[in-house]
Amino acid sequence: MCHAANKAANRTTTAHTPTLQTIKNMNNDTLKEFYTPFNQEELIHKLSAIRHVALDMDGTIYMGSTLFPWTKAFLAQLDALGIGYSFLTNNPSKNIDDYLHKLDKMDIQVPREKMYTSALATIDYIKTKHPEAKRLFLLGTPSMIAEFEAAGFESAPSTEGDIPDMLVVAFDMTLQYDRLCHAAWLATQNIPYVATNPDRVCPTDKAEVLVDCGSICKCIEHATGRKPDLILGKPDPGMLTGIASRYGLKPHEIAMAGDRIYTDVATAQNAGAFGVLVLSGETTLDTALSSNPQPDLTARTLKEFGDLLERAHR
Ligand SMILES: [Mg+2]
Repeated sequence: MCHAANKAANRTTTAHTPTLQTIKNMNNDTLKEFYTPFNQEELIHKLSAIRHVALDMDGTIYMGSTLFPWTKAFLAQLDALGIGYSFLTNNPSKNIDDYLHKLDKMDIQVPREKMYTSALATIDYIKTKHPEAKRLFLLGTPSMIAEFEAAGFESAPSTEGDIPDMLVVAFDMTLQYDRLCHAAWLATQNIPYVATNPDRVCPTDKAEVLVDCGSICKCIEHATGRKPDLILGKPDPGMLTGIASRYGLKPHEIAMAGDRIYTDVATAQNAGAFGVLVLSGETTLDTALSSNPQPDLTARTLKEFGDLLERAHR
C-alpha cells in the first residue's frame, strides 16, 4: 500500500488540465460529455489498445442491490467488440459464490474466473509471501472466513491469550466487540498484520453509513498505535497485475473502471493501466476535476465509456 501510494504520488502528468469534450460516433451522433487530460487523437489511440476492462462493482455496475440500467448493454458492447472483462471488488465480506449469486439475480451470468475480490488477493498474498502462516485470526464475515478455510487456512478463535500466525482485518459486517478487542490485542503482539482493503465506507443505497475495513483498522490504530503492515485490495496494483498475467496482456491493454479515485483509478495508475472514473457512485465532478493526477477518462457512467470504446475499436 505504501509503495503503491508513493507511486501514485510520484506519477506526473503532461499537459493535463481536464477539459470537457464531446466526440462523434460512426453515425455522426454526438456522444455524451466526458473529461480527459488527453486530446481526442491521443484518447482514441489509448482506447484502441484496450483488450480487457476490469470493472469495480459497487457504484459502477450497481448501487447496493440495484443494477444500473446501462450495465447490461455495456457488457454486451464489450462482448461485441471482443473486449474481455473482470469484476474486481474491494468488498471481502462476500465470497465468490455470493457475488455470482448476486449477479445472477440481476440477470448477469458470469463464470467464477471473472471475479476477483480483495479476500482472494489477500489469500494470494499470504500464500506467496507468508507460506508459513497457517492459523489466522480473521476479523471478517463467516462468508469470508469460509473462503479462507476453503483455501487451506485455519481460522483461529478469539480465546484469551491465543496467538495465531497472522492477523487479518477485513470489512466485517458481523463485527463483535470481543473479537474487535482480541484483534486489537493481537496487533500489540508482534505478529504480521494485514488488512484486506483500505475503504473507509462501503457504498449503499440505504440511509446508513457502512463502516468499512479502513475505518475498523483506524479504530485498532487509535487503540494500539499499530497500522496494518500491508493493505491489500485496490489501490494495490496486484489486483490488476494478476489479470494481466492471467490473460497474457500488457498493462496498457487493460482499463480499470470505477467510481473512486483513491481506490479504482489509483489501481490503474499504480499498475500502468488506463484509469476510468465514472460518476455514478461516490465521486462528484468537482472532486474528479480537482484530483491530481487526473483519471485518464472521467465519464458520467459506463455508457459513455462504452461508446468511446466502440468509437475507438471500429
Ligand atoms: Mg465502487
